[in-house]
Amino acid sequence: MAAKKLHLWNGSAVSGVAQEAIDEGLTGTELAEAVRTRAARRCSIANFHEQLADPQNRLTLSQDKMDPLGLPRPVIDYRVGEYVQRSARHTAEVFRDIVDKLGASLVSIEDGSEGFRPNNHIMGSTIMGADRSDAVVDGDCRCHDHENLYLASSSVFPSGACVNSTLTIAALALRIGDDVVRRLG
Ligand SMILES: Cc1cc2nc3c(=O)[nH]c(=O)nc-3n(C[C@H](O)[C@H](O)[C@H](O)COP(=O)(O)OP(=O)(O)OC[C@H]3O[C@@H](n4cnc5c(N)ncnc54)[C@H](O)[C@@H]3O)c2cc1C
Repeated sequence: MAAKKLHLWNGSAVSGVAQEAIDEGLTGTELAEAVRTRAARRCSIANFHEQLADPQNRLTLSQDKMDPLGLPRPVIDYRVGEYVQRSARHTAEVFRDIVDKLGASLVSIEDGSEGFRPNNHIMGSTIMGADRSDAVVDGDCRCHDHENLYLASSSVFPSGACVNSTLTIAALALRIGDDVVRRLG
């Protein structure tokens, strides 16, 4: 089952509860009261799932679609595998348990059966690996095909971690620095 990170969402609930109350037909003082009461008492728990490396999930270059510079546009093949789906079902149970323990009312829950929301952590387009036939960079982030090129990017992540990516990118950049200094020295 996928590793996962659960976190309290720190966004405002006002817009969601306002729409909900409007949809219920509330107006005037009743609407204002509903928005105040619900927004102050509602919280959302979200989670990120780890995603494994899957050779079927890949980025290739379009044969016929070009960007304004004449470079081929990327074609993205991606599907969410059973590893994540199983984890999402388990997470839904964990969410129900949390709601029960808090004595709260469950307003809505997503278990992945209706799809997943994307996150902003873009990764995996030039993955790291020892074998040049299925990886772009080696363990030092150095390109297998271009020995003078290093990539310090989330693009080298072979799997998608369930935590944010930037600190790992920074750590990789420091590691590249060490490797370059070592080679130049
Ligand atoms: C809305 C949003 C919120 C995020 N929030 C978080 C967060 O809270 N915490 C966290 O850890 N991560 C967060 N991320 C993810 C994080 O921003 C990315 O993982 C990180 O920026 C990736 O860094 P990178 O250097 O690999 O790629 P990028 O930051 O995308 O850098 C790639 C660079 O390459 C340049 N480039 C592209 N093509 C070419 C070309 N042909 N020639 C020259 N240059 C080119 C681009 O212009 C860009 O400057 C967030 C991302 C988004 C979009």
